[in-house]
Amino acid sequence: MKTVSAYAATSATEPLTKTTITRRDVGPHDVAFDIHFAGICHSDIHTVRGEWGEPAYPVVPGHEIAGIVTEVGSEVSKYKVGDRVGVGCFVDSCRDCESCRAGEEQYCTGGGMVGTYNAVGRDGEPTQGGYSGAIVVDENYVLRIPDSVGLDEAAPLLCAGITTYSPLRHWNAGPGKKVAVIGLGGLGHLAVKLAAAMGAEVTVMSQSLKKMEDGIRLGASDYRATSDRATFKELHGRFDLIINTVSANLNLADYLNLLKRDGTLVELGMPEHPMQVPAGSLIFGRRSISGSLIGGIAETQEMLDFCAEHDVRPEIEVITPDYINEAYERTIASDVRYRFVIDTASLR
Ligand code: NAP
Ligand code: ZN
Ligand code: ZN
Repeated sequence: MKTVSAYAATSATEPLTKTTITRRDVGPHDVAFDIHFAGICHSDIHTVRGEWGEPAYPVVPGHEIAGIVTEVGSEVSKYKVGDRVGVGCFVDSCRDCESCRAGEEQYCTGGGMVGTYNAVGRDGEPTQGGYSGAIVVDENYVLRIPDSVGLDEAAPLLCAGITTYSPLRHWNAGPGKKVAVIGLGGLGHLAVKLAAAMGAEVTVMSQSLKKMEDGIRLGASDYRATSDRATFKELHGRFDLIINTVSANLNLADYLNLLKRDGTLVELGMPEHPMQVPAGSLIFGRRSISGSLIGGIAETQEMLDFCAEHDVRPEIEVITPDYINEAYERTIASDVRYRFVIDTASLR
């Protein structure tokens, strides 16, 4: 076992503080790597603040993890010491159910995926995430980071990137498709870049026009304020696909009415409380509402390679670990352009 420094939450109300955790010995199929960067996802905040139920404190969050391999197990074939690697939202799954066999491990029905933190690993030990100096993960749940993608930029791709890439692919975003992205935060800004790179026509729907210049630069051709009621009149019936990345409750009826016939609104944000869906906004237009959870390992690798090839990178603000609590407050206040990434050098 190896002891590493980490930042952990000990309750829903206390700030995260520095502590130490242990990582298991490297097993035959394991890859150990030094963590260089870890992104801050809004899911980290929902989890540690108990907004999705009480987690098993202490929680070391972080599921956007990038680093360099330091040791591999005797049976490992995919990675070697010195490789640039990453880990996203899960570190294991049953490997045998229909979803796992289909490469959709995030929807594992054989006990569920094992989350990168706030879960129990197959060894019976609690998992702890990326706000730490090092991690040990089975090679089948490790991603390869393309050479042209910096480790700091790679981190947010491992959750925000794949979470937006997967539904854009599933609902065929591409030339001739009109896509709206609600919320220009960590997920939202990558959704804009990815959808534009896929050839779709992208509209951003943000609370205000404050970030309009950014949205256009990221690849949107239209940018609207949701605080302006005229937006909902003008965009009525316009979109094939709406990607909702908002972490708070919205009036979904307003947004469903912006879909064309047979259009789909995909929920990515997971607010604390349920939202109401009036049946009429689905019935008139045969519209759908769906959800999407991150993406499988193979699709995550495909997304990383797509980003390398199409020059898609997140816009990041790199911070030191002692700034995590302030970064949380700024993320909640929508004051993030567009992902905080922790440089974990001081935790190694
Ligand atoms: P984030 O960086 O905080 O972005 C969320 C954005 O939502 C904000 O930047 C803001 O955009 C908008 N927003 C926030 N509060 C709002 C409010 N009260 N009303 C309207 N808009 C509001 O968060 P994130 O990391 O992108 O995550 C977004 C959500 O996705 C979270 O709920 C997270 O848990 C979830 N998530 C889901 C998955 C999945 O697999 N489905 C994966 C990762 C994250 P504007 O300033 O532009 O309005
Ligand atoms: Zn996440
Ligand atoms: Zn499974």
